[in-house]
Amino acid sequence: MNRSHVIRLNTTPEQETYFRKACGVARHAYNWALARWKEARIEGKRIKMKDLKAQYNQIKGEQFPWVYETTKCAPEQAFADLGQAFANYWRMKEKGTQPKLKHPRKDGEEAGFPHFKSKKHDRLSFYLANDKFSVHGHTLHVPKLGDVSMTEELRLGGKIMSATVSSRAGWWFVSIAVEVEQETPTHSGGAIGIDLGIKTRATLSSGEKFENQKHYRRNLGRIKGLSKGLSRKVEGSQNWWKNAKKLAKAHYRVACQRQDVLHKMSTKVARTYALIGLEDLNTKGMLANHSLAQAVSDASFFEVKRQLLYKAEQYGGSVQLVDRWFPSSKTCHVCGWVKEDLTLADREWVCEQCGSVHDRDWNAAIMVETEALRLIRDVPVVASSGHKFACGAERSGPFEGETVCCEAGTKVL
Ligand SMILES: [Zn+2]
Repeated sequence: MNRSHVIRLNTTPEQETYFRKACGVARHAYNWALARWKEARIEGKRIKMKDLKAQYNQIKGEQFPWVYETTKCAPEQAFADLGQAFANYWRMKEKGTQPKLKHPRKDGEEAGFPHFKSKKHDRLSFYLANDKFSVHGHTLHVPKLGDVSMTEELRLGGKIMSATVSSRAGWWFVSIAVEVEQETPTHSGGAIGIDLGIKTRATLSSGEKFENQKHYRRNLGRIKGLSKGLSRKVEGSQNWWKNAKKLAKAHYRVACQRQDVLHKMSTKVARTYALIGLEDLNTKGMLANHSLAQAVSDASFFEVKRQLLYKAEQYGGSVQLVDRWFPSSKTCHVCGWVKEDLTLADREWVCEQCGSVHDRDWNAAIMVETEALRLIRDVPVVASSGHKFACGAERSGPFEGETVCCEAGTKVL
């Protein structure tokens, strides 16, 4: 199975220039191919990516000589990426799962149709095939460019598959994909339930809690201050850009802190427990609630699910999803009585039937574990990453098994 390690780079100005050029070449090739595809559509033809690539390679020397200044992987991968974007679009169309558009698209295309990449709005990135770079200790070696210093060594052992260089919040990163072997299970615990929250990021049915650190809140305060500052400046002015960069870095820092808590939790859980119970996300409920807290908790949910699926696979365990409408918080785990009037503010509550005093999150985690166990008893197929879930839902979303250090809701500059 493939896993990636994202490492920040200490770039020199020359290296940064090279990276920007490579990203520009990748973007140009992508947009060139999309434009040709659309032209052919007018004539009623559907061009294959393979043919577009051949066409591009024929004319690039004459029309785009600057592509030779960087790695040839950059434009090559652009065709693969566009092919993937089209494949996703057609799959959604076939299944009828295209996202709904609030406003019609400016280019008149349907939802999910590949967009032209923009320098301003899309993240800068380019791809390197495994024969186009090498890793030695703290160094990433790229032919023509030389040695780039990495802030840490590659943590994963195994065959190196590829790398993607990208920029975020003013820094450059390399994500190195490695083929890793599945580890022998070392589970010492049986089943566990997890409750996700805003204040306490995750509570386990064992009673263990994973909190957000204090500096996380301090950084949130900084984000609010910087956002206010940004709104007071003239958009596009020098000071506006300065402020925007600072804001992007603050967002990035908060995302990293959130990730850190979740990674510690998911690694520990996947290593220790054979069966992991987790609340499933209900898309309808998600759309109905627009609060920030909800958005943060939903983002965490997807991230936790993503991490647990690949980590459970790595350590030989399985994940059982529990319906989100299952009343885990308000059902007493001792006697099963349901406190119908439980509000979000109630952190603790007393069961009127048996008198037990409950910590809201802990009780919910225990109920999730109980429900997960019931589900695998009643439904013979145990959910395991890579297979169908017991409830019939297939894995969805990008679970490529990456340890990517960024998440939804964070503005990328
Ligand atoms: Zn009770």
